[in-house]
Amino acid sequence: MSALTRRSLIAGSAVATLAAGAEPLAAAAPPAGKQAPGIYRYKIGSFELTALYDGIWYRPIGDKFIRNAPFTEVEHALDVAFMPHDKLETPFTTLIVNTGKKLVLIDTGTGGQIAPTAGMIGDNLAAAGISPKAVDQIVISHFHPDHINGIKDKDNALIFANAEILVPEPEWAYWMDDATMNAAPADQKLTFLNQRRIFSDIAKQVTRYTPGKEVAPGIVTLAAPGHTPGHTVFAIHSGEQSLMVLSDTAQHPAIFARHPDWQAAFDVDGDQAVATRKKLFDRAAADRMLVTGYHFPFPACGHLIKTASGYEHVPLPWQPTL
Ligand SMILES: [Zn+2]
Repeated sequence: MSALTRRSLIAGSAVATLAAGAEPLAAAAPPAGKQAPGIYRYKIGSFELTALYDGIWYRPIGDKFIRNAPFTEVEHALDVAFMPHDKLETPFTTLIVNTGKKLVLIDTGTGGQIAPTAGMIGDNLAAAGISPKAVDQIVISHFHPDHINGIKDKDNALIFANAEILVPEPEWAYWMDDATMNAAPADQKLTFLNQRRIFSDIAKQVTRYTPGKEVAPGIVTLAAPGHTPGHTVFAIHSGEQSLMVLSDTAQHPAIFARHPDWQAAFDVDGDQAVATRKKLFDRAAADRMLVTGYHFPFPACGHLIKTASGYEHVPLPWQPTL
């Protein structure tokens, strides 16, 4: 028996169709033509969590993307992950935590202001049956635009009108300092200006927290500097269960979990980002913790296991019940 190839499979099925004398049937129902809503619910103790998909950015990359590895190695890693060489798949997944007393949103998505393929959080909130007005708290991990732009719409109106906004104090201190902005390279100026667009006129409504603080019962913030100076992750605990919200400790795990030493061009302090990544990933792997990452493939939750050369992300399978 000859080996089954894709060509012989297609040819074989065509022969079988002809042999049966059957015309292929036209579909009776029109195609949907669009994707289903991007929401996924799971529980941590008594807390109900909703992963909300905001979309994806196909981020253009080149040979400067990883500072400390030759691009041929990066291209090989992209091949292994079935990704093109010139774009990094960068999905965005925000998280709603219903503690039973409060509705907390961790990071806010792109606000439809980064890529035409992102900005779906409003539609997905509606699909999840959550009104933006019902969100009590927004907790921000760091000040990159894909995490803060969803605080406001394109016309600068607050999307979550009733939410208290909590941001890491060291992020505010770094990015909102005009001397830091003026000393930054020209290509980073837009990042600083965007932060001022989001925060300057609502500064009095913004609460700055020190990483380490519990911002809501069961949601503890932890300093995770490197990607940005005030980059923060979150430990969510309820009952006997817990979840580590890794924020941008690693971007796509097929690249940065498998190659934890790689420093991306967008890390403010690459050495510190790598040290933080390894510390948190080692802990998550050793404790077999459930983790979620903002740029992990949707629904972005799963586990990390340690391998000979790095880590592997094991996605959580779809679960039909909570
Ligand atoms: Zn990000």
